[in-house]
Amino acid sequence: MDALCIKDLLDRRKSPLLSFEFFPPKDGLGMASLETAAAQLLSAKPDFATVTYGAGGSTRERTLQVCDLLRQMGYGPIMPHLTCVGSTRDELLALADRLHGLGYRNIMTLRGDPPQGETVFQAVTDGLAHASDLVALLKTAHTDFCCGVAGYPERHPEAPSAREDIVHLKQKTDAGADFITTQLFFDNRCYFDFVEACRTAGIRQPILPGLLPAISLKQAQRMTARCKTRLPEELIRQMEEAGSEGDAAEEVGIQWAQKQIEELLGRGAPGIHLYVMNRSKAALTPAIADCFRRFRG
Ligand SMILES: Cc1cc2nc3c(=O)[nH]c(=O)nc-3n(C[C@H](O)[C@H](O)[C@H](O)COP(=O)(O)OP(=O)(O)OC[C@H]3O[C@@H](n4cnc5c(N)ncnc54)[C@H](O)[C@@H]3O)c2cc1C
Repeated sequence: MDALCIKDLLDRRKSPLLSFEFFPPKDGLGMASLETAAAQLLSAKPDFATVTYGAGGSTRERTLQVCDLLRQMGYGPIMPHLTCVGSTRDELLALADRLHGLGYRNIMTLRGDPPQGETVFQAVTDGLAHASDLVALLKTAHTDFCCGVAGYPERHPEAPSAREDIVHLKQKTDAGADFITTQLFFDNRCYFDFVEACRTAGIRQPILPGLLPAISLKQAQRMTARCKTRLPEELIRQMEEAGSEGDAAEEVGIQWAQKQIEELLGRGAPGIHLYVMNRSKAALTPAIADCFRRFRG
């Protein structure tokens, strides 16, 4: 049972929080490598972990399986992700009850992407169209749910403008969202500008920056293309110099993330959310632990 609510962790924090995001692997081999990575990453002392939810609920059972595994491994509160994709309001309510019954109190609350092959998000009949609707549903169903929501420093790809995207983010916090985790970014200026714009718009909730320690140039290009975020020329250059993939390139990715973390925490970010992609290069955990040591005292 996750008695700890992440909002409380954020409110009472004396030092920045660290969280990791995992995804449900496809098979047993993937599960084994997730377990190895999760065990290594534990020594960086994460405060909580989150587990993604596949399009249309395709990974629902595996999401719960990974949540359970992380719980057993000694991770703190576990936050399953939940999306509106492919589910009616009643089905989402039933899922919310199930998660609550299993002891989960923290939910990353999302609309979700359109299922593969579709380009426009379409709510199913009697379904929900926006993450803000799901926040409202969860908060009404169980008042002790703590809801995280997604924020986009470089704007959600469907949003006509950054300003409108922030108006919609405010709808999520007005519906009861407790904190915001950002889409991945490689240029910290995007985060600082975004936080300023959110504060100007009256959003008061903590905003956790989401970072990807890139393992290769190809991966960084694929992820930024998918999320429509910018890949700095300088990172491309350093990755290319390191051979674009392999140990040296991965080292560049870790060092880049380390620099981002140091600046973000140094300038008051409430924590760091790492998209670890179910991997842990040997150098990653000590690099993160080193960044946090300074801020944890
Ligand atoms: C931290 C994080 C975790 C994620 N985890 C997952 C996951 O586990 N599974 C998964 O499938 N995807 C995940 N995603 C991706 C996410 O589902 C997509 O980015 C999706 O396209 C939008 O989801 P959202 O919750 O931000 O939607 P919303 O907040 O609903 O926003 C989606 C778009 O609609 C607009 N909008 C919102 N409300 C309104 C309104 N009332 N009227 C008009 N327009 C509106 C917004 O500006 C935005 O352009 C994650 C993203 C992040 C940043």
